[in-house]
Amino acid sequence: MTAVVHANLFDFISWREDAYVRFDDRIRAVGPMSEYVPGTETVVDARGAILMPGLVLGHTHVYSAFARGMSVPFAPQGFQDILDQLWWKLDRNLDLEAVHASGAAAAADYLRNGVTAIVDHHASGAIDGSLAALGDAIVDVAGMRAAFCFETSDRFDVDACIRENLAFSKRVRPGRSAAMFGLHASMSLGDDTLRRVAAVRGDLPVHVHAAESAEDVAMTRSRHGTSVVERFDRFGMVGPGSLYVHCVHCDERELSLLKARGATVAVNPTSNMNNGVGLPDVAGMLARGIPTILGDDGMSASAAVEIRALGFSMNHRDGMPTAFGLADTLRVVLNTYDFMSSLFGIRLGRIEPDAAADLLVADYPGPTPIGPRNAFGHFVFGMAPAFRPRHVFVNGRQVVADFTLDDPVAAAAAGSREKAQAVWDRLAREGEQR
Ligand SMILES: [Zn+2]
Repeated sequence: MTAVVHANLFDFISWREDAYVRFDDRIRAVGPMSEYVPGTETVVDARGAILMPGLVLGHTHVYSAFARGMSVPFAPQGFQDILDQLWWKLDRNLDLEAVHASGAAAAADYLRNGVTAIVDHHASGAIDGSLAALGDAIVDVAGMRAAFCFETSDRFDVDACIRENLAFSKRVRPGRSAAMFGLHASMSLGDDTLRRVAAVRGDLPVHVHAAESAEDVAMTRSRHGTSVVERFDRFGMVGPGSLYVHCVHCDERELSLLKARGATVAVNPTSNMNNGVGLPDVAGMLARGIPTILGDDGMSASAAVEIRALGFSMNHRDGMPTAFGLADTLRVVLNTYDFMSSLFGIRLGRIEPDAAADLLVADYPGPTPIGPRNAFGHFVFGMAPAFRPRHVFVNGRQVVADFTLDDPVAAAAAGSREKAQAVWDRLAREGEQR
């Protein structure tokens, strides 16, 4: 049992000053320090700091850990070129060892940034066993919660993609890992592949990039005579629990369909800006009642920077400083916790008895008064720009203590530079052979 004492608690909904939280794998008690009775537990003093739930990312790419600093000939004329010249070169050169190493490196990064749960969308040249390798690095060793799926696509061996999605779904650890059925995007999936996936996916919800770029929309229209979301709907793939990612170029009919079917949309505005593909109408999605959640698309391994960027990007998109308020951003943050709580079957994002003990302690000497009415504003404008929690706990286990990673997590990540270099070397040799 652990107790964090003298903390200001902020779980995005409620704010309490000078309080304690006692927990093992779940939160067992929360109350004011005046009611705290010391026991035999490990005590962490959080005076001057804020205790928050671990942050979460509703869409990410763990393998992108090995893209950081990578140099490749890069002169994209459109979104497909970004895939061809960068991402597809990287992912096809990842063998199982590299997949595991990228998982270990990414886990270290996520945890240092206070991210304790992720929904991953994976692709690699090694298909069979790739999700198990990620599960080992991220869930078993680093202790995070993670959902995995393999990006089925016609560029890979489709049988192997299907096999891997189904195989991992039988290995999930309740409460700790979860499975979805991964699909890359409409533009890389033929009807035959979608038919085969529809026949075998059972109740696994799909996780797919949708209308991220105008090219996905145009290719889908010219090859299949329909829109991206309507195309997936023809195969019965739009439903509760399914995750449609980006939806930058979804039209009115597609948004209505997503709402009618109870699907969730994951938006990733920093990635969209980096790729220059446009920005989704998140306010419109919220107004329609579409559960809209936030991911980083593998950009930063940080949820804080994405939460901060969401409102900025939306205001810029609409050319109005009030287009997307803090209440809208907060809605998306809470939706993300709700989606992931449902996916993992455990309450995430709340500091209350029986919720998961996924917690972080962040120093924050706020320069102005802070309280229940403005704590989220302090988070977005004051804490998020350089968010590095002092302590991080997942499922009750302390994985970051005084800014230092737990030994097994640090040890697993230690060799990642050499592993990344080996992948980059393979990729460069491949370039020379072409
Ligand atoms: Zn993505």
